[in-house]
Amino acid sequence: ENGRNMLWLFNENDVAVKERRRDIYWVPLIKKALLEKELFLVYQPVVALSSGEISHYEALIRMKGEDDVVISPNQFIPAAERMGLIHSIDLWVVETAIDFLAGLPADMSHVSLAINLSSTAFQETKLLQTIRDKLELTWVDAKRLTFEITETAAFQNYEKARDMIIKIRALGCKFALDDFGAGFCSFNYLKSFPVDYVKIDGQFIQNLNNDETDQVLVKSMAEIAARLGKKTIAEFVETPTTIKKLKEYGIDFGQGYIFGKPEINLLQSNSMSIMNLM
Ligand code: C2E
Ligand code: CA
Ligand code: CA
Ligand code: CA
Repeated sequence: ENGRNMLWLFNENDVAVKERRRDIYWVPLIKKALLEKELFLVYQPVVALSSGEISHYEALIRMKGEDDVVISPNQFIPAAERMGLIHSIDLWVVETAIDFLAGLPADMSHVSLAINLSSTAFQETKLLQTIRDKLELTWVDAKRLTFEITETAAFQNYEKARDMIIKIRALGCKFALDDFGAGFCSFNYLKSFPVDYVKIDGQFIQNLNNDETDQVLVKSMAEIAARLGKKTIAEFVETPTTIKKLKEYGIDFGQGYIFGKPEINLLQSNSMSIMNLM
């Protein structure tokens, strides 16, 4: 099943066995969710730190479980990636996000979205076609769409990923390097992929007020990204003091619970209350 003509020997107590069992547990649930429309997107605002205005929203996937329980992507996305179900989810996310934009009232035609693509999205040539077709069909401006990619997202096939990013960018869509600084080759990625935004990983932001190492790291990442002509986004912004520090470092955008949690309805994130924070 894993290909490459390999034989894997498992010990019952092996972590891999337990992980494998958990993966197998998710397979019918994910298939059912795709078929019975039990997946949905929630939207979290990304705010321009200079003006306090909402720049765009990040779409984050959820699954409906039994008894209206909401299942987080951390629970099923890794399993979907390993079990070959992620392509269907990626295509679902792309189509749903574009439909969402197309369905907004005319006075919200300026709203744009960032969506997350899985680590194997770029192996799939169908992705480009789906994006192109869907944009054409709905008349949604490609500029209203940003794709967030993570280090692993491009890792599997560097050349193919780069090629795909260039083609999707040519349509007018934008790209963000997600979880920047958290992986092993963040700088390599920055060098190799033409992205518009660098999204500094939340682990460096969460304790920014107290952690001097984080302060140095975030300040430096912001400077490097800015010098390379990229816009910077900080995630996990939770306090007013953090906002102040990020502005001081010249970070362009912020995202986090202080501005708004991910919600089903855009109007729930109130930009007036955000302005008061700035
Ligand atoms: P991510 O792309 O890095 O998304 C940021 C995560 O941080 C989200 O968790 C968000 O709800 C959470 N978050 C936002 N603000 C704060 C804050 O102030 N403090 C803290 N502690 N957390 C905050 P979520 O929605 O559970 O998503 C987790 C991960 O699942 C995402 O990380 C992304 O890697 C993946 N994911 C989410 N939606 C999709 C999707 O549609 N497709 C794919 N392939 N992956 C997705
Ligand atoms: Ca993201
Ligand atoms: Ca992130
Ligand atoms: Ca993350």
